[in-house]
Amino acid sequence: MVAALKNRISPAHDLINPYETALEQYERATNRLGIDENVVEYMKWPHRELTVNFPVKRDTGKIEMFTGYRVHHSTVMGPSKGGIRFSTDVTLDEVRALAMWMTWKCALVNLPYGGAKGGVLVDPKSLSAREIESLTRRYASELIPLISPHSDIPAPDMGTTPQMMAWIMDTYSMTVGYAVPAVVTGKPINIGGSQGRTEATGRGVIVSMMEALKRHGRTVKEDIRLVIQGFGNVGSHAAAYAYDLGYKVLAVSDVNGGIYNPNGLNIPSVRSYVAETGGLSGYPSAEPVTNEELLLLPCEVLIPAAMEGQITGENAARLQTQFIVEGANGPTTPEADDIINERGIFLVPDILANAGGVVVSYFEWVQDLQAFFWDEEEIFRQLERILVKAYDATVRTAEEYNVDMRTAAQMTAIKRVAEALMTRGFYP
Ligand code: GLU
Repeated sequence: MVAALKNRISPAHDLINPYETALEQYERATNRLGIDENVVEYMKWPHRELTVNFPVKRDTGKIEMFTGYRVHHSTVMGPSKGGIRFSTDVTLDEVRALAMWMTWKCALVNLPYGGAKGGVLVDPKSLSAREIESLTRRYASELIPLISPHSDIPAPDMGTTPQMMAWIMDTYSMTVGYAVPAVVTGKPINIGGSQGRTEATGRGVIVSMMEALKRHGRTVKEDIRLVIQGFGNVGSHAAAYAYDLGYKVLAVSDVNGGIYNPNGLNIPSVRSYVAETGGLSGYPSAEPVTNEELLLLPCEVLIPAAMEGQITGENAARLQTQFIVEGANGPTTPEADDIINERGIFLVPDILANAGGVVVSYFEWVQDLQAFFWDEEEIFRQLERILVKAYDATVRTAEEYNVDMRTAAQMTAIKRVAEALMTRGFYP
């Protein structure tokens, strides 16, 4: 496992605790809201946290122990919702931060959900297909006391796939004795997954980007150059959708580094290269760049779509972009936020920009519960409607309180959860 630590996308992450970022953002937002201090205190705490240490039999016959977490930050608005991450960077504090961001994200797009997140400390690429199935199923069975269609609904996140969601659905279903597709979202379509879910987060990032560009009068697509950090569940689909729409994507990256072509990359060809070779490295007709260098490339829109803590007090002053659209959760530290605001770079925050994933997860859950499925056109139409509405609400808060977009998005969401909490009251 120690060797896998080398896969970190940026050394910056070593120094940054995402939970500190989440709490600092929360403080900035609640300072402006003027809500009851008891409510502010209550919402700061994760509701419940599970740590599990469990065995996986490796192909050699040896038993290896793995550690996993599931944190429910809030269940005020409904069952908790949020992805499961397989990564060697997972810590309890990271999962706490991600769970808290899910609460605000779901509230901002008006989904009837609270927030949760899970993670297992593992590099999924270091295990065989059998080992990863065994790890996923054992972790899922450890989560049985917490998950169900009415209490907590997991989904994919960094390092996890629709196939893994299928194993979670199957493990849960085998335990209760009947098929329960609604226990998890982001499943393959043939077992109750939704049209459009795989692309949803990346597509939503581009929808939010276009909304920001439009409102700044930047409608000529050929003039907009994108740089995208990350080429996984979010970045690869954002790049593909942007490319199809006619935007120039200059650079993309994965954990091992990025590729850059100042004239624009041919994204379909990059995607086939990755499908064939398993990564971006060695892609012809582009120059290699490190993940750090990639963030500093000249562009109109920078999309951090990898992980937390990438845009920091150390590099924010050197960014050469006009817009930042956060595909990842928590990619920008509060210190960097101050520099970005000062420099007049317009930022569309994570809980708004990457909410497309959980919105289509919600559609998937609704379809599973009703056993009635929608077509792709309907999914994307409703997705866009919800994201634009959330964008509007954020801008209205930003104007009303004269705050930046991150603080506005968090304030909008926190206010909704606070009001629901006050309506429900403190138990007992
Ligand atoms: N992992 C995604 C996120 O961070 C999706 C969560 C979900 O669909 O529940 O928003």
